Amino acid sequence: MIFPGIRDIAAALDRGDYSVRELTEQCLSDARTANERLNCLITIADERALAQADAIDRARARGDTGTLAGVPLVHKDIYCTEGLPTTCASRMLANFTAPYSATVVERLDAAGMVTFAKANLDEFAMGSSNENSHFGAVANPWDTDRVPGGSSGGSAASVAAGLTPVATGTDTGGSIRQPASFCGISGIKPTYGRVSRYGMIAFASSLDQGGVLARDVEDLALVLGAMAGYDERDSTSSSHDDAWLEGVSHTGVGMPDRSLTIGLPLEYFEHHTGSVALVDAAKATLEAAGARFVDVSLPNTAAAIPAYYIIAGAEASTNLSRYDGVRFGYRCENTDSIEELYERSRSEAFGAEVKRRILTGTYALSVGYYDAYYLKAQKIRRLIQNDFLRAFESVDLLLTPTTPGVAFRRGELTGDPVAMYQQDVYTTPASLAGLPAMSLPCGMHERLPVGMQLIGPHFAERALLQAGALYQRETDWHSLTPDIGEHPSADSPVQKEES
Ligand code: GLN
Repeated sequence: MIFPGIRDIAAALDRGDYSVRELTEQCLSDARTANERLNCLITIADERALAQADAIDRARARGDTGTLAGVPLVHKDIYCTEGLPTTCASRMLANFTAPYSATVVERLDAAGMVTFAKANLDEFAMGSSNENSHFGAVANPWDTDRVPGGSSGGSAASVAAGLTPVATGTDTGGSIRQPASFCGISGIKPTYGRVSRYGMIAFASSLDQGGVLARDVEDLALVLGAMAGYDERDSTSSSHDDAWLEGVSHTGVGMPDRSLTIGLPLEYFEHHTGSVALVDAAKATLEAAGARFVDVSLPNTAAAIPAYYIIAGAEASTNLSRYDGVRFGYRCENTDSIEELYERSRSEAFGAEVKRRILTGTYALSVGYYDAYYLKAQKIRRLIQNDFLRAFESVDLLLTPTTPGVAFRRGELTGDPVAMYQQDVYTTPASLAGLPAMSLPCGMHERLPVGMQLIGPHFAERALLQAGALYQRETDWHSLTPDIGEHPSADSPVQKEES
């Protein structure tokens, strides 16, 4: 393990093994080196990070800090960060500096985490491979010819490569879980509404949800606990209290307080790929640890991909209408009319996949097609949610593969958008239903990591995280790290502490 867990970092800082400034300087220099190979970061924020680090060192000296204070952090570049570029990996926002910070950024700043970089992603979070970025594709640290997954590919690659112990992500249809799976790390998408969307650049507002990527469940919980909670600036953020999540930095995740019943949805195990065999092994591990498994059926699963891509496209087409070349973002040169300004600014600054979503989304919402596409997709969404609610009458959680296969090669699916969309077959259903879901590493297939997905009922993050902690107590897949050649952390104070 390159970074010890967050609690070990906090303990090392408490002991004075190294200062927050030393740790931050090391992160900045490692990030610069590794980024040449992985392209996982869009902005490396030396000045902001070092100012934050010094402030935390002073606060630590006064004994005025919590567990997360001084812990390095990378934000997906979809979160507005006052004073830093926020690009969403688009030419449209390549020169945009947000005038305010997202709630997630504010909360993690307040907890004392040190943001030293902003991670690459698919443009406006649309994609499953991080090949749709204006700033170039991201490489998977396990095999640099392969994709890290998307859209939070830069976040996942940064954690997997040991550049940071934790990164934020967002997940609309799988964008935290799928890259976590491809990069051999843990990632949680909380219940819709658990984390504020204020200042998180909108893709599909009824699906977008912020979450965390880290090596293990304990670190996911610590950071999620600090970023979650009601926010009056996001009308869809939930006021559902979770004292457990709020207090998790004191109590730790712990183990499930009773034996779990876990459902295996038949529809997720129809294709017998390498990942399915490993999820079977995970089932055996959890069974030996006391869980009981039952088969369940989620009969509308196959309709999730078409419903998701219609709904997400429709919402994207309206959300992205704000980029008009007038108020902010890219503006084309030499125009004669306002129509031409709109048209050329948008044509020149959006990438191909974003345009595809805007076109299909606008089509699905247009008069004459609305009922046949958008309305129908909404009805399917309800059926999918009902499938889950029925299953949760008899089980605590569901266990599934996260993805149909392991990380694919760069360029392998770029010519076939539908094949790319099919990558999200196991992640979009929970998104449509607004359920919390998490991907954990559960093995290696042909030297590439495989992830399994746990899905819980609404607001059951506790059950989800505790089941994950149980699994990670029994297994060591989450501690495997890729060999990325010359180790970027070879000289780090953290590394020395470890050895
Ligand atoms: N891959 C899916 C898409 O392209 C999901 C993306 C996401 O969750 N942001 O829409």
